[in-house]
Amino acid sequence: MSFDFLQDKDRIFTNVYGYQDWGLKAAQKRGDWDKTKDLIKLGQDAIIEEMKASGLRGRGGAGFPTGMKWSFMPKQAPLDRDGNSRPSFLVINADESEPGSCKDREIIRHDPHKLIEGALIAGFAMRARAAYIYIRGEYIREAEVLFAAVQEAYDAGLLGKNAAKSGYDFDVFVHRGAGAYICGEETAMIESLEGKKGQPRLKPPFPAGAGLYGCPTTVNNVESIAVVPTILRRGASWFSSFGRENNKGTKLFQISGHVDRPCVVEEAMSIPFRDLIEKHCGGIRGGWDNLLAVIPGGSSVPLVPAAQIMDAPMDFDGLREVGSGLGTAAVIVMDKSTDIVQAISRLSYFYKHESCGQCTPCREGTGWMWRVMEKMRVGDADIGDIDTLYEVTKQVEGHTICALGDAAAWPIQGLIKHFRPEMERRINERKGGDMLEAAE
Ligand code: NAD
Ligand code: SF4
Repeated sequence: MSFDFLQDKDRIFTNVYGYQDWGLKAAQKRGDWDKTKDLIKLGQDAIIEEMKASGLRGRGGAGFPTGMKWSFMPKQAPLDRDGNSRPSFLVINADESEPGSCKDREIIRHDPHKLIEGALIAGFAMRARAAYIYIRGEYIREAEVLFAAVQEAYDAGLLGKNAAKSGYDFDVFVHRGAGAYICGEETAMIESLEGKKGQPRLKPPFPAGAGLYGCPTTVNNVESIAVVPTILRRGASWFSSFGRENNKGTKLFQISGHVDRPCVVEEAMSIPFRDLIEKHCGGIRGGWDNLLAVIPGGSSVPLVPAAQIMDAPMDFDGLREVGSGLGTAAVIVMDKSTDIVQAISRLSYFYKHESCGQCTPCREGTGWMWRVMEKMRVGDADIGDIDTLYEVTKQVEGHTICALGDAAAWPIQGLIKHFRPEMERRINERKGGDMLEAAE
């Protein structure tokens, strides 16, 4: 069955390559901030219903339905002990740190007004007093653009008191992180915004119940918020006409690694992997027979061997069926020149380095898994160590405060499941070499 590729007229991010200016005037020419007041006039409930109807699922990796998440926010402001009402907040996660992910960077660099307008509308819908955009520390130029774009919006009366003449007061604050991957986890981000060490909190309570400064808070990814104005302007039915049931809309895919033309591209959800690569990346380096494996959703999801991913629909369900996930749609392509054991060992090092150390299975497990992975890399292990490594990943998975433990375990599980013969070959080769040396 042939796939209907997304046409230019249906692209939300029309300046994703930065061919045009990111500034307010150019953004307005592209349709941003057009009658924002009328969108706000729809009212809180209608906006949330429209978002639910659009089928948008969170674009930060977990895929939680966005409209439903907004509906968890209280309609009546909760009261503190002294009877004063407490504000609600929107926190926008721009701490894009997942290896392979780089879509939010492109939005902020080239289309920041989509994000800022989306923040106002989403903030209004959930009765938030302000939005905090938490941007990763390494995004220095992007933060400069964001600060300037927010200032432009204030100067034009689009933010602040009576924002965009809507009668609603709304502020946007940009906060720079300091380079810790774990601050992308929503509760660690909230801790960090409060000025504390960025360590995840136990959930529940979820942020809608107790978030920033203990107030009702929703944390959404940059892409999830930046698509909001276009969805409301063009209608939920337009957005949900792309993709398939449970996997609706358009999505920014970020393709890196061994393709002819790595890129960030907006496509309809559910595009088959092969079509995505052929149409937008010029194919696999050295041809399709040279494809070894793909990590389809950023480093936190398991790899998929070539044969299983070719026809997989690139969406939440399609990639779950092949034992992986859509994550952030950061597609890391590896051809046969890849040392797959070394690649996964390097990821293990990343998770060991980024563990906040708060819970034992993650703090101890990530270091242990990386050390054993290094032994696997050089073949300096016993065959039985492969099963032990697998058992340890199972003890880490699901037994930690946040998803980092799972993220560290899954790539190794994927490696053992699909490339066990390669791990055994290294061990046997090393052992054979040692025996030869001993005999000499
Ligand atoms: P999660 O499934 O715990 O939560 C997803 C969202 O839904 C959260 O906002 C959470 O508060 C909300 N939620 C879930 N259940 C809820 C409930 N019962 N009631 C109210 N709200 C509820 O996932 P997570 O830990 O937030 O995110 C993990 C994902 O993050 C991974 O899949 C990974 O792909 C992704 N990730 C992305 C990056 C990046 O750079 N974008 C970095 C690291 C990880
Ligand atoms: Fe910290 Fe790891 Fe525990 Fe998450 S799983 S809270 S990163 S120690």
